[in-house]
Amino acid sequence: MTLAEAAAPLVDLVFPPRCPSCGEAIAAQDGLCVACWSELAIPGEPACARCQRPFADATMAEGAICAPCLADPPRHDGVAAATLYNDASRKLVLAFKHGRKIALAPMLARLIAARLPELEGDWLVVPVPLHPFRLWRRGFNQSALLAREIARLRGATLLVDGLVRRKRTPVLGGLGKAARARALSGAIAVRPRCKAAFKSTNVILVDDVMTSGATSDACVGVLKRAGAQKVLVACFARVLDEAL
Ligand SMILES: [Zn+2]
Ligand SMILES: [Zn+2]
Repeated sequence: MTLAEAAAPLVDLVFPPRCPSCGEAIAAQDGLCVACWSELAIPGEPACARCQRPFADATMAEGAICAPCLADPPRHDGVAAATLYNDASRKLVLAFKHGRKIALAPMLARLIAARLPELEGDWLVVPVPLHPFRLWRRGFNQSALLAREIARLRGATLLVDGLVRRKRTPVLGGLGKAARARALSGAIAVRPRCKAAFKSTNVILVDDVMTSGATSDACVGVLKRAGAQKVLVACFARVLDEAL
């Protein structure tokens, strides 16, 4: 029995478990209430063979590629999203990131890890980096907390500072594709001393929310330039419409 297990009944007594999303009383410390679970949208099948975007049309053939991937083939090798972005997943992300409920990390990471395919060969788990100023303000990189748990769950190697953010980028929401690319140009780089680690390896790139995909694409670009073979993007919540 670990110390945490030994202390759990006491913790439960002092802090009765509450759903981190809505505050409803629940049975155990590490979950959601039934209502919040049922509101999470899990990406279904059929889905795009390149990016796993679910198709609204259930008659799509296996191996079909979605319109955004056809128009602009992604540099990543697939997206593993725990949920589709909606009110329920937004609340969880806000509680985790801005409500400082970092104890949510294991649960969110479990949901992400469950969506990853079978991993063969060597895999590194790397979080999308935060700019040092933002890291200092928030005190933690939410994607790094998820990456640590995912590495543990899937038996992969964590490289928590493999990528660095060299300049602050504005909020990308509302910017067009070209403006996003301009804002991100040169913003993300492989940490020089980690360069050799990426040669001929595979990478799980971890982000909390994948919005337009521009930030993760910038990460994938520098990882592949450093020699990474496959890069899978793993996120808790994926925004679908904004990428279109
Ligand atoms: Zn709830
Ligand atoms: Zn696609």
